[in-house]
Amino acid sequence: MTLFAHVEMAPRDPILGLNEQFAADPRPTKVNLGVGVYYDDNGKLPLLQCVQQAEAQLMAQPVPRGYLPIDGLPAYDNAVKALVFGADSDVVRSGRVATVQALGGTGALKIGADFLRKLNPNAQVLISDPSWENHRALFSNAGFAVATYAYYDAAARGVNVDGMLASLRAAAPGTIVVLHACCHNPTGYDLTPEQWDAVVAVVRERGLVPFLDMAYQGFGHGIAEDGAAVRKFVEAGLDVFVATSFSKSFSLYGERVGALSVVCADKDEAERVLSQLKIVVRTNYSNPPTHGAAVVAKVLGTPELRALWEQELGAMRTRIKAMREQLVTGLQAAGVQRDMSFITRQMGMFSYSGLTKEQMQRLRSEFGVYGTDTGRMCVAALNSRNIDYVCKAIAAVL
Ligand code: PMP
Repeated sequence: MTLFAHVEMAPRDPILGLNEQFAADPRPTKVNLGVGVYYDDNGKLPLLQCVQQAEAQLMAQPVPRGYLPIDGLPAYDNAVKALVFGADSDVVRSGRVATVQALGGTGALKIGADFLRKLNPNAQVLISDPSWENHRALFSNAGFAVATYAYYDAAARGVNVDGMLASLRAAAPGTIVVLHACCHNPTGYDLTPEQWDAVVAVVRERGLVPFLDMAYQGFGHGIAEDGAAVRKFVEAGLDVFVATSFSKSFSLYGERVGALSVVCADKDEAERVLSQLKIVVRTNYSNPPTHGAAVVAKVLGTPELRALWEQELGAMRTRIKAMREQLVTGLQAAGVQRDMSFITRQMGMFSYSGLTKEQMQRLRSEFGVYGTDTGRMCVAALNSRNIDYVCKAIAAVL
């Protein structure tokens, strides 16, 4: 009997499984809308100009690769704070934010989850129904019981705000609420500013712990606009967790650049919280990698590169919006009777299309158009060459 004789085969990651199927599909017309990645109009993963220029500048003065501090590159952590909360914000100036560099947004969520688990092992975690599929697994692996709050309203094609508020009102004090700061994954439906105000009020009244996942800052309305929800929690005087990711906004997926920020009551508290976050990092992987953080810090800290980044991020955002509009008109032109205009009300990379599992399977088998069984499609993978084909395929299965 070997040590591994009873090890069971784990279920395949649904999205990675879809990618494998896509790669094996021989049809030249195939389209992969299952991914959570932005592609340009040529169907290519972009390497941003601002990143290339920052890398060239860094390479011109090469530095040895010693260990970074446990909490990451200081210039990077400061740039994150300025981006998320505002450089001149009271919380940043008063030293109330504890920020650690993390391995992408996922790593940020995990550091936060491990820290919270030590603080309150019996707390429940609430995620949106539905949510990014890793939220549940990540928080339950960290030792929490995970349940959902109402979110998607299929019939109304939007957010079930009353249901969401009712779920939050029913939560026990100390419950950790994972919220998508902008560009909800998978539905694409975000809260309005007024609805955020109502959520902030309930979180405050009930003594819940807000954990904002911000994986798509700049893909919704703009960099500052997409950060507005975070600032509402801060203005309400709440201790808030924010997981930042630059995977999408810098197209630096493989560099694993993210950060966790925790807003505390005062500087002293922030220092103590930071010391605990550092223990979590230290006991998991010691300290974070250098390259991605150095690039992001360079871009955010150099006015010309920062302006270039904003322009390039703006172009990605605009292209996605254009694809949404073309999808709506293209579906109409392809003969779809039902009103698909909800697609242009959705934000970010994804669209919950409202298609059934059977329709999604037909899209794959008959047309080589790959989306998830939930009906989620990545609008950021559409381009001027594949959109007509996708519209005709969807029209055929509807
Ligand atoms: N949160 C959400 C909602 C996401 O969609 C993603 C990426 N798909 C992440 C977190 C993780 O981002 P990263 O790749 O930076 O770990």
